[in-house]
Amino acid sequence: MSGAYCPCGSGRVLEACCGRLHAGAPAPDAETLMRSRYSAYVLGLEDYLLATWHPATRPVALELDATPRPQWLGLAVKSHTPLDAIHATVEFVARYKLNGRAFRLHETSRFEQVDGRWLYVDGEIRD
Ligand SMILES: [Zn+2]
Repeated sequence: MSGAYCPCGSGRVLEACCGRLHAGAPAPDAETLMRSRYSAYVLGLEDYLLATWHPATRPVALELDATPRPQWLGLAVKSHTPLDAIHATVEFVARYKLNGRAFRLHETSRFEQVDGRWLYVDGEIRD
């Protein structure tokens, strides 16, 4: 993937965007973490997705290889709302195809910072 554009749609190359977080750099805010998690879904980085999931809501495994596997088409972040120093929500739309059909996931995700690291808590489907 060297030199490839980041799947999150930032317009930057992966290594200068979500790739830095995938390699261990902390997310500066909830939106950046959310974008890196979308990219991790695109790239199939299950370990990263689990590591950035709040322990209270984290599943045991994600089975990203289960078929049919969604083909992720793009991400649009609608809003990033800090609630206090360690809580924030991010509203986004992610588009994907499954079995040739196009779908749209519109979700407001909740994030919490624990020990200096932003973590995904859960999400509310909007549509
Ligand atoms: Zn990115």
